[in-house]
Amino acid sequence: MNLIIKNGTVINAGGRYVTDVAVSGGKITAVEKDIAPGEHDRQTKIVDASGLLVLPGAVDVHTHFELPIGDIWSADDFFAGTRAAACGGVTTIMDFVTPEKNEGLLEALKKRKKTADAKACIDYGLHMGISGLNDCVLPETAEVKAGLNDRLLAEMAEVKAAGVSSFKVFMTYASRLTVDELRRTLARAREINALMMVHAEDHEALEANRAVFIASGKTDVWHHYLSRPEAVEAKAVEKAVDLAKETGAKLYIVHLACAEGLKAVEIAQREGYPIYAETCPQYLNFTNEVYKRPDGRNFVCSPPMKGEESQSALWESVCQGDGKTGDSGKTGDRPLSYSNGRIRQGSVPCLTAVPCLTVPCLTVAAPIGINTLATDHCPFQTFEKDRGIGDFTKTPNGVMGVENLYPYMLSEANKGRLTFERVIELCSANPARIFGCEAKGAIAEGFDADIVLYDQTKDFTVSQKNMHSEVDYTIWEGTKLRGYPVRVYSRGKLIYKNGEFLGKPGHGRFIAT
Ligand SMILES: [Zn+2]
Repeated sequence: MNLIIKNGTVINAGGRYVTDVAVSGGKITAVEKDIAPGEHDRQTKIVDASGLLVLPGAVDVHTHFELPIGDIWSADDFFAGTRAAACGGVTTIMDFVTPEKNEGLLEALKKRKKTADAKACIDYGLHMGISGLNDCVLPETAEVKAGLNDRLLAEMAEVKAAGVSSFKVFMTYASRLTVDELRRTLARAREINALMMVHAEDHEALEANRAVFIASGKTDVWHHYLSRPEAVEAKAVEKAVDLAKETGAKLYIVHLACAEGLKAVEIAQREGYPIYAETCPQYLNFTNEVYKRPDGRNFVCSPPMKGEESQSALWESVCQGDGKTGDSGKTGDRPLSYSNGRIRQGSVPCLTAVPCLTVPCLTVAAPIGINTLATDHCPFQTFEKDRGIGDFTKTPNGVMGVENLYPYMLSEANKGRLTFERVIELCSANPARIFGCEAKGAIAEGFDADIVLYDQTKDFTVSQKNMHSEVDYTIWEGTKLRGYPVRVYSRGKLIYKNGEFLGKPGHGRFIAT
């Protein structure tokens, strides 16, 4: 054994108990009381976690590190981004491959992996972006278009075989798919049993709004919100849900931020469709009021923060799993029996309320409402955000959050708004299960030793100065948190301790999903 964490309160999505955790070769080898190092095992490090919570690291399935947007790049590369993640208790991230025009998907994947492998400090997975089925440098005859489409769709199976089983499409921006393309891509995803992630905002509606505002000189940042209000998002969510139902594809709505869209998702979930929804901490902590602030452009992201009604609907859904679905909210000392990510005994049917896609699951509770929390971490420097002074259309879209997600949600649990079990379900267990990170998402035998030690008594005030991102401001400035991670381990390696980053670029490994 290399490490024994003693006497902490281990919490999983399914419950909690005071016990020890043994780690060897990067894996959790035992979760039981009174673990002692072997007689000849002098190398074993013993960490006393009395009074601390021992939690699985968070799995943030939505980051945009090293992403070019026009002539600028998102502020964090894979090193700085995963450093910030690690310091916030996120031990796995999933980022995106964005193929260039006419670049093969596999070629783009290879390039992205090379970049990430050299820099990532924590394990990472990737989603494949699918855009511009009709982009074509050849003469644009119908045959050529159809040929390219088919080639691209065919390549999706090869991408899946190469370890990327989730695909991302946009319903707005230049890279958006038409309704017909979206339908064909979803049908293809269904064929190869892949998960389709959708950015849902209705392009025609928001462009029409923007055109009216620009023509009448209404270009202050409040009009960023007004051009993409609740209805614009809801309309696209409803469309995506309809197409998923029609094609039978597994659908994952990214950054869901409005009450009406949530309702559409919940109805489909109740009907039994494999449809999942993610929201982000920024939509839980802020409303559209931020766009009335003088520095409102620093909060510009798409979809934008919405009104109070949407915010409370999101919170209600985030809290609803407590004691109602799965085992969330219950406490006890029931032993977990997992080995290599597989269930060994039938006593514990499932760690989460979401039907497992990879781990065999004996019971499937209906996963209604928000299933995951992720960040959409995509920050830009203030001087880049400043391009939008006087004209919101010029502000690069995106905000930060990878270092704030877990501490913020755990703090809300610590304050009593929801249980720690539910936070772990949303931030770790569910994303790991939905995306197929089999060795992540639980403190249990056979899982990777991605572990967060959390001190419930440590108060923390977020400031740009104590964050580990490269960005020069934070929307979370001044946020007061009750409790904070004090140690973070990635596959048994200590990568964060009391404010200090101890990880190394290149430690992170690609996770095939
Ligand atoms: Zn995103």
